[in-house]
Amino acid sequence: MKNILIAGHLPQDCLNLMGQHFSLYRMDHADNKEQFLAEHAHEIEGVSGGAIDAALMDKLPNLKIIANFGVGYDNIDVEAAKARNIVVTNTPNRLNAAVAELTLGLMIALARRIPKNHEMVRNGHWPSVKRAPLTGQLAGAKLGILGLGRIGKAVAKRAEACDMEISYFGRTDQQNDYLYFDDLTAMARHVDWLVIIAPGGEGTDKLVSAEVIEALGPDGHLVNVARGSIVDEPAMIAALEQGKLGGAALDVFENEPHMPDTLRNLPNVVLSPHAGSATRVTRQQMGAQVVDNLVAFFDTGKALDPVT
Ligand code: NDP
Repeated sequence: MKNILIAGHLPQDCLNLMGQHFSLYRMDHADNKEQFLAEHAHEIEGVSGGAIDAALMDKLPNLKIIANFGVGYDNIDVEAAKARNIVVTNTPNRLNAAVAELTLGLMIALARRIPKNHEMVRNGHWPSVKRAPLTGQLAGAKLGILGLGRIGKAVAKRAEACDMEISYFGRTDQQNDYLYFDDLTAMARHVDWLVIIAPGGEGTDKLVSAEVIEALGPDGHLVNVARGSIVDEPAMIAALEQGKLGGAALDVFENEPHMPDTLRNLPNVVLSPHAGSATRVTRQQMGAQVVDNLVAFFDTGKALDPVT
């Protein structure tokens, strides 16, 4: 059996399945990780779980594959892996529906004040308020998607069913039925809703700048289900406080699970704890995909979902 280092959290069903094919070295449970590595490093051929940097790769002389649990792999130094001939895999596609579903859920919650109305009813304030406050709606509104990839397309499909008008920004004009913008600020000016669903990392760092947020404007809504790093968070909070941005629905944050108190206390936000793919079915399928990649790689020399 090949030996896999578990470097960070993985769901139990993924570990159980992995354990049927491989010997697992639980560094995630080790009190002294350095000592654990000193004892076992040379036996390890694969790694899964957690953040993997160049320093860890250098400590594992026989490492051949890093199997990431998740489609986003900004937790892994992919360039360092490439330079060391280490294959990196991720879990694309199986989580598209779950993330898109949460995205639409957050949008509807924000547009229709669902959390605030729920609070109002639960706290017994309905009799004094009498009628529900009027809100916006998705139908007829313009949606701009930053990152019309696998998940972005699943969001677009669901937003179309809500009668939204779809446009997108990315590096490539995909020549499809949606309106393409090669300028993010111009798209932000055009739309009512900006959904962010592009990868994190250097290429997208603070791409949603103060200028983009200002272009979205006082009637605009920002929805981030990708990575906190993509948004200039202080600029977004300032705009929300000053009424220069209408609202935000956020599943991801710059320094999650922490966030500034101001953000937690704003009335025009809906907050979610990085739950995009967090359904039982999806997480189980992602776990199986991690193991399928490891098995395929060690059986055939080819992983199913290499990222480069
Ligand atoms: P894809 O690779 O299929 O799509 C990414 C899209 O982003 C592409 O359309 C690409 O278009 C665009 N993009 C990439 N780089 C840039 C850039 N520098 N500037 C502008 N656009 C860019 O990825 P997925 O749809 O599978 O996943 C997207 C991300 O969603 C993941 O990387 C992850 O971070 C996040 N995610 C969040 C989850 C959550 O729980 N909240 C769960 C799952 C994923 P083009 O190449 O034309 O630029």
